[in-house]
Amino acid sequence: MNLSATIHQMAYEHGFDLVGITSTEDFLAAQEHAIDQVNKGHMDGLNWYTKARILRGSSPSVLMPEVKSIISLGLNYYQSRNANDWSDAHIAKYAQGRDYHKTLKTMMRNYINALEKEVDYGISAKWYVDDGPMLDKAIAQRSGLGWFGKNSNILSKRYGSWILLGEILTDLSLESNEPLLTNCGDCTICIDMCPTEAIVEPYQVNTSLCISFHTIENRGSVPINLRKSFGQWVFGCDICQDVCPVNKFQADTRSNQFDTNRTSTSILELLEMSEQAFKAKFAGTPVMRAKYSGMQRNACIAAGNHLDNANLPGLLKCLEAIDPIVRSHAAWALGQFDTTATRQALKIRRKSEEDAGVITEIDIALGTSTNQ
Ligand code: SF4
Ligand code: SF4
Repeated sequence: MNLSATIHQMAYEHGFDLVGITSTEDFLAAQEHAIDQVNKGHMDGLNWYTKARILRGSSPSVLMPEVKSIISLGLNYYQSRNANDWSDAHIAKYAQGRDYHKTLKTMMRNYINALEKEVDYGISAKWYVDDGPMLDKAIAQRSGLGWFGKNSNILSKRYGSWILLGEILTDLSLESNEPLLTNCGDCTICIDMCPTEAIVEPYQVNTSLCISFHTIENRGSVPINLRKSFGQWVFGCDICQDVCPVNKFQADTRSNQFDTNRTSTSILELLEMSEQAFKAKFAGTPVMRAKYSGMQRNACIAAGNHLDNANLPGLLKCLEAIDPIVRSHAAWALGQFDTTATRQALKIRRKSEEDAGVITEIDIALGTSTNQ
């Protein structure tokens, strides 16, 4: 068996579901697309996503001068036992369980160690997940793992877009795979079904409209005009993947790292949770990225959309939270209930509230704002 074939076989043996190899030329088309997205303001709010980072991440030889090949890896994370089926607080599937960065990096390190034993010399290698600068989707596309969907995810033939990507730059000289000759054709389902119209054009997601961005990365207030479209998503959003016809052929992950119980929660639990309890429950999971106040803010929005009276005690507690962002979103949510009791609670809070932003939200919730 030649080395490239061995690389493929060993990747499957180490738990990866997809593997491809590509050359090290710069990813110029992806670079141009990414810079265009920055210029259009579609990446606003992701302050770390800069042109300098894109230029570095699209040039493998800048990241590793001795690089000769790139191994692209995919891990299927789909679980048919999905916490969103029984919980009212919805979390994107990839985030249900242990932090995938840790999972993928451990898998890649073990894989490289095994490759070193196989070739019997020290391989030079650098490996990345999506927290690194590399344009992981462009690498996956050129390696033949899948094609770019109009929702900007990589779609694989076997696992759809339920895949996490990793890539290894190496000084091994390997035979490249060809990109797939597939695309989305005339389909526009993800564009039509996105509740916030965040897919502004095929292959272009405007983060400032995307539920996933706001629930995870936004540290401030969520625009009022978007909140009703958030439904019950408290971390991420799977809608443009759930509706994708390519994703209907689902196979459960082989990995035991995606334990839905670990992150399964409820709107009320999030509303009433102390910061200490938040850290105890979500440590080591992707949910930590949104931080305690962010998750309470998200839970307020979900409660305001779900309109289950059982969540009212939690909302009243959040109306007294230390963080004014949480208080303002609790005010919005109570305004969605708009009962005598919720109006009374808002009026009482209005008397002692000192934060201008929260006062504005209370006034809007009560319908007494002059800025509506
Ligand atoms: Fe729209 Fe949700 Fe997809 Fe973002 S993740 S583009 S909000 S469907
Ligand atoms: Fe492509 Fe249709 Fe899937 Fe969107 S829903 S990614 S257009 S196949």
